[in-house]
Amino acid sequence: RQLPASFLTLETSGETETGQLADDIAMILKAGDVVCLSGDLGAGKSTFARALIRTFAADVGLEVPSPTFTLVQTYEFPRFDLSHFDLYRLEEPEELEELGLEDLLETGAALIEWPERAESLLPRDALWIQIVQPDEETDNRRFVFHSENPDWQQRIEQTLGVRDFLEN
Ligand code: ADP
Repeated sequence: RQLPASFLTLETSGETETGQLADDIAMILKAGDVVCLSGDLGAGKSTFARALIRTFAADVGLEVPSPTFTLVQTYEFPRFDLSHFDLYRLEEPEELEELGLEDLLETGAALIEWPERAESLLPRDALWIQIVQPDEETDNRRFVFHSENPDWQQRIEQTLGVRDFLEN
């Protein structure tokens, strides 16, 4: 399946700015949301996901432990839970069902790396963020946002109001 057309492209100039972008997305996240992070190895999927989880943790004075998970790790927060999926090692899409995504979405949101592995089983209103490293030598990362649900565009434009990430 092809992704719907992108509605926004931003560029961050380093890990710190990627953290700020993750902070902004954390602000608008709701229980039930699915955020798919796609991109090559080293693009910055984990960096973004962990920054977002750290934002939730910092709000309540916690630190995020190092990930010990293979496919999914759920972090419990007062706001709601965050489940961090890495589907790289998924053998077939159906295995996602065993990981309990549906139940997790009742009490929290999901951040999913390598979502292509189970694309057919992911909710259609998910937010997809494609992360691209434009060339090998750079700390710039391009974030390309897609979704079939127009609500995401509204929410993201709201939260990005005061930032000046490079838009292109
Ligand atoms: P992935 O999960 O996509 O394989 P990682 O997040 O593990 O990628 O690795 C991304 C690497 O790129 C990290 O070493 C990070 O420090 C570095 N990096 C450099 N610039 C950026 C940026 N703008 N945003 C995110 N990561 C960056």
